[in-house]
Amino acid sequence: MKITDKTVVQFHYTLKDEAGEQLESSFDSNPLAYLHGQKNMLVGVENSLTGKETGDKYSITLQPEDAYGVYQEDAVQRIPAKHLQGSAGNTKWKAGMVAVVQTEQGQRQVTVIKSGKFIVTVDMNSPLAGKVLTFDIEVVDVRAATDEEVEHGHAHGVGGHQH
Ligand code: ZN
Repeated sequence: MKITDKTVVQFHYTLKDEAGEQLESSFDSNPLAYLHGQKNMLVGVENSLTGKETGDKYSITLQPEDAYGVYQEDAVQRIPAKHLQGSAGNTKWKAGMVAVVQTEQGQRQVTVIKSGKFIVTVDMNSPLAGKVLTFDIEVVDVRAATDEEVEHGHAHGVGGHQH
């Protein structure tokens, strides 16, 4: 079946920068799973998947404005430490660590610049901001979403939300 709104898609990807250097890959673990049409995925990637089906392999190159944004010089913000999520867990944040914050536009990766007890100064630019990115994509599975998934607005099961 083809990828349309209200389908759950599993796909593998390799992400490369403009120089062709690999930044991320899902091929050595589980594919990603997401509910199509809900902007749960990078929009440029999600749009490129519309109409594709299981077994399709292709590459898409996104300009920064269609991917993680143009680098903003003034995107430094002070955020309550409790709003940061990521690998530091309960330990203290340190400069250079990457954290995740929830924004009105969804999850965002940020880089810690300075850490205080309650307030952390972060660079809101994604580590991938300003980069031209190429995704090599392989569609692994496409199925109709369940009523529950449509209601929740996300995919369940392997690669999706576990709850
Ligand atoms: Zn759910």
